[in-house]
Amino acid sequence: DWSLDIQSIRKQFPVLHQEVNGKPLIYFDNAATNQKPSSVIKALDYYYETDNANIHRGVHTLAERATADFEETRKKAAAFLNTKEVEEVIFTKGTTESINLVASTWGRKFIDKGDEIIISTLEHHSNIVPWQMLCEEKGAILRVIPINPKGEVIIDEFKKLLSAKTKLVSVVFASNALGTINPVAEIISLAHQHGAVVLLDGAQASAHLDVDVQKLDVDFFALSAHKMYGPTGVGILYGKRSLLEAMPPYQGGGEMISEVTFEKTTYNAIPYKFEAGTPNIADVVAFGAAIDFVNEHGKDRIAAHEEELLHYATAKLESIPGVSIVGQAADKVSVVSFLVNGYHPLDVGMYLDARGIAVRTGHHCTQPLMKHLGIEGTVRASFSVYNTKEEIDRLAEAVTLLAGRKN
Ligand code: PMP
Repeated sequence: DWSLDIQSIRKQFPVLHQEVNGKPLIYFDNAATNQKPSSVIKALDYYYETDNANIHRGVHTLAERATADFEETRKKAAAFLNTKEVEEVIFTKGTTESINLVASTWGRKFIDKGDEIIISTLEHHSNIVPWQMLCEEKGAILRVIPINPKGEVIIDEFKKLLSAKTKLVSVVFASNALGTINPVAEIISLAHQHGAVVLLDGAQASAHLDVDVQKLDVDFFALSAHKMYGPTGVGILYGKRSLLEAMPPYQGGGEMISEVTFEKTTYNAIPYKFEAGTPNIADVVAFGAAIDFVNEHGKDRIAAHEEELLHYATAKLESIPGVSIVGQAADKVSVVSFLVNGYHPLDVGMYLDARGIAVRTGHHCTQPLMKHLGIEGTVRASFSVYNTKEEIDRLAEAVTLLAGRKN
């Protein structure tokens, strides 16, 4: 059987089995962070109970085991993203740090006055602010690809923005606010025709979409482990070797050096050049278990299940008088943003929480997008592998009751 056994998957997630405000928990805030299977939680425990030591320099057995555990995740991540080389995987705190790393190293070295950086209207603040800071420092210009009313980037407008001045195109793979999946292959190919480097914010893509960095020919790719069943505090920056080698280091300190004298320091090879100090070893190790979890169930099967939930929830919510869906892109990840006529999103969120249903409300760290849409925020339900149609029925029932009072 090709389809997943969702009930047995649910058993692997301890947090799901509790009551919130006297009702069984329904967790629909997966785009913010999703829940962790027992295998990830156990990997954390196991690491601290058996292998804990500082990595890379120790000659004792525990240090060797900890180093091997840590580097094992790097290999798994490299395979997961299909990087050409394992050394192209750099561990960071998350997507935000990955983007900031590129802005403050590659950006500081290669962006000059008058250069242009292109982002899109859909961006999360973490793919806006680092570039604004860089542009301010360098006198460079930030350009923004507009979107159509469905919430899709307008490729013809993107083509008009591209020029010899374009040095970087940094766009989101899948929008956390609307769910829109960007046509990234086309964006990358167009940007490359103009000699620009491309960064993809893969925070919402990595657990759901096929990510093959070589096939995409993307230059930089950022992701967060906590959005793919892994721990918080860990992320990845993928970069092509040639780019990473040309970049100056990010932070200075231990691990990132080759030789230090008081006169001059030479730097370590990639990836260590970008990993100063003791990293988040335990969480990186547990991230390996999260990658195993996704591989074991199959990203394509997880995505198929989530897509079914997306269509089911969209149809159900759309049919409720007074409810409107925000973002109607043809190609979406499992994110449904909506509004209930007569209610502030925050009130909807509190009403649902009282019924054990966790959703996100607000601007979703995409204030410029909300401003463009002429709204303050939305209510957002986002689905992961362990969610079910029965849970969506309960959401729809609750929203129907609320909307019925005013619509
Ligand atoms: N980009 C997108 C599209 C996101 O959804 C998020 C997290 N909400 C981020 C970037 C930032 O990720 P993190 O907070 O894990 O660094």
